Amino acid sequence: MKNLIEKNTGLLIRIDDVAENMSWKYMDKCEKLFEELKVKPLVGIIPENKDPDLLRFPKNNNFWNRVSGWRKNGWEISMHGFNHVYDTKTKFKDFFNYGGDSEFFGHDFEHQYKKIKLGLDKLKSEGQIVKSFFAPNHTYDLNTFLALKDNGIKVIIDGYGLFPYFEKDLIFIPQLFYKETILLPFGFQSTQIHMNNWDDDYFNKFKEFLIKTKQKILGYNEIVSKTSNSKAKKIVRDLFRFSLINLRKLTS
Ligand SMILES: [Zn+2]
Repeated sequence: MKNLIEKNTGLLIRIDDVAENMSWKYMDKCEKLFEELKVKPLVGIIPENKDPDLLRFPKNNNFWNRVSGWRKNGWEISMHGFNHVYDTKTKFKDFFNYGGDSEFFGHDFEHQYKKIKLGLDKLKSEGQIVKSFFAPNHTYDLNTFLALKDNGIKVIIDGYGLFPYFEKDLIFIPQLFYKETILLPFGFQSTQIHMNNWDDDYFNKFKEFLIKTKQKILGYNEIVSKTSNSKAKKIVRDLFRFSLINLRKLTS
């Protein structure tokens, strides 16, 4: 039993909001920490960042070389939206029922397809080929998934449940909690790391968490290889979906 649980527990470190303008203080610290602990995170790059909250941070003029260096070290480069600017409201009608504002939800297919293509083209022009995507604020509609698929993206780092799963011809990696330092005792999950809001205390807590859980931290390819579909897993997924949606509605 212990063996079964151990074989079926793992965490992907997903870093959100990585762009030329970001909190380089904590990115530098995290990079050192990941190297020391041999952690290979997934970094969500915003290809054309226009988010005013992020533009307040200083610009790193060596950004794309840094990204290439990460890739060479085995980090997975992912795309996180296109410009990270919200221009629609989901009113809890988005695919995962997160609610809140969105960069993609509600726009027609052509609009979403073009944005995703422009983002991928930009990344390609900087030498970055990506296989996965996650939307700002977790907000998608069915056109987002079609537009991603038509652009060759196969993996979404968002979803419910305890195992990566297939749905709509895509693979979804569950991302359940806002808090960075949670490892469930069973199942495969992704974190979401928002280091642009951190202070030193928070970094130290994250560091402790990583040291404690590093045996359970998986790289992108490892977590994708855990994808499986079964009726039992779907029931668990629906339970998570139901509980988390209601919890969010109660607390929003
Ligand atoms: Zn974001």
